[in-house]
Amino acid sequence: MARYTGPSCRQCRREGIKLYLKGERCYTDKCAITRRGSAPGQHGARRAKLSNYGVQLREKQKVKRYYGVLETQFRKYYELAEKQAGITGENLLSILERRLDNVVYRLGFASSRKEARQLVRHGHFTLNGHKANIPSMLVNVGDVIQVKEKSVSSPKFKELKEKAVNTPKWLEVDMENLKGKVVAVPTREDIDLPIEEHLIVELYSR
Ligand code: SF4
Repeated sequence: MARYTGPSCRQCRREGIKLYLKGERCYTDKCAITRRGSAPGQHGARRAKLSNYGVQLREKQKVKRYYGVLETQFRKYYELAEKQAGITGENLLSILERRLDNVVYRLGFASSRKEARQLVRHGHFTLNGHKANIPSMLVNVGDVIQVKEKSVSSPKFKELKEKAVNTPKWLEVDMENLKGKVVAVPTREDIDLPIEEHLIVELYSR
């Protein structure tokens, strides 16, 4: 699956918010948004007033960049969200949260979604005891995600056992055994992304 490979901080600067794409660095003074929040480019400091369409588009871009998803896949998630009962915008965020790479990140097994995606691709996890190396897989309630036995002894995962993590309430984590469980479907209030998802629905309904 294609993915964005350019500079991460540039994406945050473009959107004007922290998208937490670089792990620990995002919580330090080195964060580009903390140092200079302006948009990239020569005229980045002058933010033009956006049209309605522009505002809706930016909201969509924020979500895509936050989860590291490109347009084609994002559109598929939107179509899936539309078919579900409930509020489409909230359904969309809930689906994105259930991506395996996001779950690995939320469980504290990776410092960013980007790192989580790489770890998943390299086959370090199992889902319900089976090999799981597709970052876009969607997890369901009751699913168990675990670091593969072979990977547990690697320094990366060994040091995680000492780590204190703050997992959302729809997930349970057992750091000692490097294991996590999905205990509920994520709701809007579980998702700490400051966006107005209804604007994405309005954009796609044009
Ligand atoms: Fe975004 Fe993190 Fe870079 Fe800050 S350090 S601009 S939050 S990716």
